[in-house]
Amino acid sequence: MNRTWSPYWNPKTETLPKDQLRALQLLKLQKLVERAYATSPFHRRLYDAAGVRPEHIRTLDDIRRLPFMTRENWMENQAAKPLFGDLVTRPEEDAIRYHLTSGTSGRQPLRVLDSRKDWSWITDMWCYGFWGFGIRPDDKVFFAFSYGSFIGFWGAHYCTEKMGCLTLASGNMTTEQRVKQIVEMGATVVCATPTYALRMGQAAEKMGIDLRKEGKVRRVIVSGEPAGSIPAVKKMIEDMWGGMCGDTAGMTEIGTIMIFECDKQPGGPHIIEDHFIEEVLDPETNEPVPYGERGERVVTSFGRGFIPLIRYRTKDLVCKVPHTRCSCGRTGDIYEGGILGRVDDMKLIRGTNVYPRAVEAVVREHAEVEEFQIIITRVDNVQDEITVKVELKPDQEECWPRLQAKLGKDLADAHEGLRFNVELAKAGELPRFELKAKRLQDLRPKY
Ligand SMILES: [Zn+2]
Repeated sequence: MNRTWSPYWNPKTETLPKDQLRALQLLKLQKLVERAYATSPFHRRLYDAAGVRPEHIRTLDDIRRLPFMTRENWMENQAAKPLFGDLVTRPEEDAIRYHLTSGTSGRQPLRVLDSRKDWSWITDMWCYGFWGFGIRPDDKVFFAFSYGSFIGFWGAHYCTEKMGCLTLASGNMTTEQRVKQIVEMGATVVCATPTYALRMGQAAEKMGIDLRKEGKVRRVIVSGEPAGSIPAVKKMIEDMWGGMCGDTAGMTEIGTIMIFECDKQPGGPHIIEDHFIEEVLDPETNEPVPYGERGERVVTSFGRGFIPLIRYRTKDLVCKVPHTRCSCGRTGDIYEGGILGRVDDMKLIRGTNVYPRAVEAVVREHAEVEEFQIIITRVDNVQDEITVKVELKPDQEECWPRLQAKLGKDLADAHEGLRFNVELAKAGELPRFELKAKRLQDLRPKY
């Protein structure tokens, strides 16, 4: 690469001094609330009920006068006025795309529509992230993604086209076909969920392919699961592929990503603050928490025209730290450790809080583990038991007694001494995932 590129996709706004960034956010917020009030009956009702009007937004702190949008009130609105509810601001004919949430835990999916302008913005947000992690026009980017109704990497695909990369789609390929093509085509960038990046690496090993020697991958960009910022997972991916692993996170409700890791890898992704306001609130009191404390992300997005997203409660747990944590010069703050989990995916086991992501962080410290599953059961209707089932990489059986003891100890140490059962699964017994992994099974009776 001969040219000297700027390290930023948008050099002006990504490095804007904080006071100017705040002024820009306020201006955008005022416009957004005005537009939502005028064009979305859903928002008008919400704001009328709360006694708040667009002209009440005079400072950034006034955002707290606005009521929350929740998945629940969005779903209700959609159910009451099918198909899309009356929170969409424009007629369906103006849309060019339709997508759905991935519909975890048996809920009705959210349906979203976007215009051509929305898609241009969605693409641009991915460009912030890809460019920021060092992707350049001479890269060959491989998407291990199914290109369905789930929005996933769709925007990232357009982003690499826009940047001038050679873009490789692999919609219906098997894992083995993908690995082969990545090597054959000399792909320099691979995009996948963290789970699937690991799975492709494991498949390559079984196929006798050394990705570090035979592949040319220098960057792996992950999204879709909180594991992308778990250091042990990141290291496994980097060791397998021989390139740096960068985390991004987005949501169907936003249509694109709102945070991305830069190539300085400061331990968490930057917030794209010129396009989003990310509040971090105590989920019980709804009061903002200071830097360095955990809370729930509440997002306001300036970019999507069809669906105003204002103070949307995400239920994602995060810990915000100042942008000065990173040396890259961006002024967007950082979510240390990425998305830490979900407010509602905490499990209470015999009085101790267990988060699946924390279990994953411990399990992935052990390189012998290929796949795992967490199973929670209730014995004799009283005692809750938590079991981690582990599938080992090929030819690792002899390490099992030592690993079983070590894992049990490490898991207990990370959970106030809570006893975990650690069991060995047969090779190929545990489910494998391409999109979002579902490794936790709570088999306790529901009341
Ligand atoms: Zn940075």
